[in-house]
Amino acid sequence: MNSSLVNVVIYADHNNFTDGRSGYGIQKITVHHCAGVMSAESIGYLWQNPSRECSSHYGIGNDGRIGQYVDEYDTAWTDSNWVSNCTSVTIETSNCACGGDWPVSDEALNSLINLCADISIRNGLGYLVPGANLTWHSMYAATTCPGDYLRARMQYIADRANEIIGGGGGHKIAEDGLWGVDTTRKAQEVFGTPVDGVVSKQMSWVGNQNPGLLDSTFEWLDYMAGGSLLIAAIQRKVGVSDDGYIGPDTISAMQRWLGTPVDGVASNPSVMVQAFQHWLNQQ
Ligand SMILES: [Zn+2]
Repeated sequence: MNSSLVNVVIYADHNNFTDGRSGYGIQKITVHHCAGVMSAESIGYLWQNPSRECSSHYGIGNDGRIGQYVDEYDTAWTDSNWVSNCTSVTIETSNCACGGDWPVSDEALNSLINLCADISIRNGLGYLVPGANLTWHSMYAATTCPGDYLRARMQYIADRANEIIGGGGGHKIAEDGLWGVDTTRKAQEVFGTPVDGVVSKQMSWVGNQNPGLLDSTFEWLDYMAGGSLLIAAIQRKVGVSDDGYIGPDTISAMQRWLGTPVDGVASNPSVMVQAFQHWLNQQ
């Protein structure tokens, strides 16, 4: 399975990648920079050198054109980390100037966003979260790659890609009973609160008692800092005080509203969260 966004295919020398994924599945994207101003072709020519011992699945030239060098079902040697290579689709991105914060052209950045969204959609990675399923080279090795310019824009890349992944509403989320980033984003769309994939400023003791509310999307704090606009909107919907903090009362009210057993706890997985996801998908 490869991207239809590709402009040019230049297969890497077989000395520079491994067939298959060694039993692993694709779990994430890893972003790199070229440390140079390059084209989709010139990146590919690097990986054709049989003594290079390096490759990437994709490369983006300074003009935004996209090259493919290794098939996604094979393992490119890009991340300086074997397990990371086996679980990642990797992208080399041309710089538009050398040195400094290693800037990238707007054309290359836009192609990177489109390619990240496409990889996520075809591989079922869901919404992209920097540091989780949208990663970068310096997470895995002592390197400055992908440079400060791209590193500072990971949330922007994720947000723009997630707009494509979400398709501007009407998309379905998994009904798996686990309240993660997808559920938060969908709920934020439905309830009309800012869509950032985060349930802000919640109390950590609630997180400890409710394993179905995932750490990837709930911001757990040890002090009260104002709560979440989304939780307040849900509380108004289910008829409890809209203080913005999820807890046993709000979970019980959601369980009553959704017609699931009322115990005030979101388990892992949770029948209530599953019903909530189902309801969100009907909106
Ligand atoms: Zn790199």
